[in-house]
Amino acid sequence: MSKLKNVYLQGVLETVKKRNPNEPEFQQAVTEVLESLEPVIEKHPEYQKAGIMDCLVEPERVIKFRVPWMDDAGKVHVNRGYRVQFNSAIGPYKGGLRLHPTVTESVIKFLGFEQIFKNSLTGLPIGGGKGGSDFDPKGKSDNEIMRFCQSFMTELQRHIGADTDVPAGDIGVGGREIGFMYGQYKKLRNEFVGVLTGKGLPYGGSLARTEATGYGLCYFVDEMIRAKGKSFKGATVVVSGSGNVAIYALQKVNQLGGTVVAMSDSAGYIYDPKGIKFDVIQRLKEVDRKRISEYAKLVPSAKYVDGCSGIWTVKCDIALPSATQNEIDKKAAETLVKNGCFAVGEGANMPSTPEAIDVFLSNGVLFGPAKAANAGGVATSALEMSQNSMRLSWTFEEVDAKLKNIMIGIYKNASEAAKKYGAEGNLVAGANIAGFLKVANAMLAYGI
Ligand code: NDP
Repeated sequence: MSKLKNVYLQGVLETVKKRNPNEPEFQQAVTEVLESLEPVIEKHPEYQKAGIMDCLVEPERVIKFRVPWMDDAGKVHVNRGYRVQFNSAIGPYKGGLRLHPTVTESVIKFLGFEQIFKNSLTGLPIGGGKGGSDFDPKGKSDNEIMRFCQSFMTELQRHIGADTDVPAGDIGVGGREIGFMYGQYKKLRNEFVGVLTGKGLPYGGSLARTEATGYGLCYFVDEMIRAKGKSFKGATVVVSGSGNVAIYALQKVNQLGGTVVAMSDSAGYIYDPKGIKFDVIQRLKEVDRKRISEYAKLVPSAKYVDGCSGIWTVKCDIALPSATQNEIDKKAAETLVKNGCFAVGEGANMPSTPEAIDVFLSNGVLFGPAKAANAGGVATSALEMSQNSMRLSWTFEEVDAKLKNIMIGIYKNASEAAKKYGAEGNLVAGANIAGFLKVANAMLAYGI
């Protein structure tokens, strides 16, 4: 049940539900955004008159394709590939590619829709898109991954371009996969252009892109909690997941003086009251590509617990959910609050259910929503695009400093927008509103 009172927005949501009946994640993302835009729509009838919301919830283009590939034993497999080009009002479509068996059109549409607002919030000229496949990279050899990525790009290359649509990594897509995809793009198109971000350093990647989402998350949360006189110094932190976002959030929390006591993967979590060691995790996940349970075998003070949702029972001051969507439900949120958690920063996309967000907001937990808190990854991808266009490479320090400024700017814009539209302190509303306004005004300027 949505909380919408505005009749126009109720109608928009109803159409979304009718048109996309089996897409719960997409419906969830649209509902949240429409609810927080209600005061904006009431104040600015011009958006309704121009049908901006009706257009915004319908992707400009959905591309679905067959991805055949051969495993090491010579067996043929077929997966489904997607690219949703959601909105290009303020720049080329930009958003990651996800390789995970849970990928459906609904998941890609929810991610692409969220990406519109996130990208706008960065202040950089990038539109919203997302893509991926239901391919499961777990347990595949390097050659199998390569054959899949090449087949995926053989079709995708028709639809993307440095000024059209610039994909990046997401769950299951890191440096190795981007390398295989970029190699295939180059082979087919004979162009060395910035058509993908998250590239390796020798072929046009940006320093600090690997670290950007995790670092940016911590810069954002630091700004959010410092506004209330708190800091990471001495804080106990739980980070879910142990992928790209989680690993570099761990490193930045350590640098800011906090202690990460628990991390997870989809099978279970590790707990170490002495603090999880960055170099051990990084090697385990990025080099050896092993499960997180192995950490407890390497570090005697750590213990491994089966089942990933148990991580939210670990007592902490700050929680950084950085694994996947809907990983914190109402019960997990209540447990976090009961255990004294005072801040939550979403590293993953939509990791908290709407009921969980209600629990956080009604208990005064400082809450940094994904669109704002994890925008550092895409912001740094846009910095990679700039460097590619200029044929230049900035230093790590230059990129990191720009990232930090962008995250501080996002916090400021989201908190000011929340205040202006009567939702002071609610960064969910603030991020949606601030992200929306720039896109909506560009759409208004274009006419229909
Ligand atoms: P990775 O593939 O590097 O890591 C994902 C992590 O989450 C792994 O530890 C994985 O465990 C765990 N995970 C995945 N699916 C589930 C599940 N269904 N239940 C429990 N755990 C799960 O991905 P990223 O770190 O890149 O992405 C994590 C989140 O951050 C995603 O929501 C992504 O959209 C978001 N994000 C990523 C950005 C980036 O720059 N990479 C930018 C902005 C947002 P396992 O190995 O067992 O699957």
